[in-house]
Amino acid sequence: MMSVSELREMNAEEIISFADDLRRRSIGDTVTYVVNRNINFTNICIGNCRFCSFKHAYSPFFLSIEEILKKVREAVEIGVTEICIQGGLHPRMEVEDYAKILETIKNEFPELHLHAFSPMEIFHASRNSGISIEETLSRLKDAGLDSMPGTAAEILVDEIREIICPHKIKTEEWVEIIKTAHQLGIPTTATMMFGHVEEMDHRIRHLMIIREIQKETRGFTEFVLLPFMRENNELGKVSKGLSFKEIALTHAISRILLHPLIKNIQTSWVKLGVENALKMLFCGANDFGGTLMEENISRAAGGKAGEYLPKEKIENLIRSVGRIPRQRDTLYNLL
Ligand code: SF4
Repeated sequence: MMSVSELREMNAEEIISFADDLRRRSIGDTVTYVVNRNINFTNICIGNCRFCSFKHAYSPFFLSIEEILKKVREAVEIGVTEICIQGGLHPRMEVEDYAKILETIKNEFPELHLHAFSPMEIFHASRNSGISIEETLSRLKDAGLDSMPGTAAEILVDEIREIICPHKIKTEEWVEIIKTAHQLGIPTTATMMFGHVEEMDHRIRHLMIIREIQKETRGFTEFVLLPFMRENNELGKVSKGLSFKEIALTHAISRILLHPLIKNIQTSWVKLGVENALKMLFCGANDFGGTLMEENISRAAGGKAGEYLPKEKIENLIRSVGRIPRQRDTLYNLL
């Protein structure tokens, strides 16, 4: 496991080439992807994160269970293995409302993997229902929650959270919710939203927190890098923006500092665009994410990459850079 001081002795080119080498040695040339669909069931939210475009870019909506089910059926038609469900923090949503979404889908599609609700939504459900985080997670697990997105992490440094999302859960709360999920047998992803007001040192602190959790629980399936998107949000006006080199370096540092505890480093074609995402496969990343179908969040923030990449297209893209595409499920079993 590399220490931060060892990392600091390397220059950017050395870091990127070392990360690429580590990726090759631990995962090989396979590039995985998942066939999934996102469903954002509401953009009504009591939060006021300064980087949020999703809440403001569309008129307020709240999908009924029937509408959610219709989207799930469409997705099943094209062969998805995962449905990813997240939404704004609707003031009246309680744990039973979240559970109902899961139960309704599971009733009709018991085999479908439900990857749902960020730690912030779990906190919201628990607070609105007056029950503990553990009770909330257990209830949702019983209702069919298979895994959770480790979103709402942004940068796990409270000074930065104070600037970008002052009303969101603090670092310690995020860590607690994630660890509780892992202890209950609910795996999660880990994410980092970077390129706004933070410096590289904050990203490194974030990565070290993820590494410590993983040492203890082994509950993370992957680490997802989410470059900050600047359009239609308040934070975009004050953020410095990201150079390509910095994005590449951040992918590489993530691979190195999380090695060997987290093997799967995911790049985001939705945020970076397909071409740059493919380049990240040579900077430490080994996973291309999902087909997505209906990606609202990045699109609202100026993402131009589109909202759906069919499986065949993803496979061709991966082959075009000399790597081997493999479809996986949410938990990284190859299909
Ligand atoms: S990021 Fe999520 S929690 Fe924050 S304001 Fe937007 S929808 Fe609400």
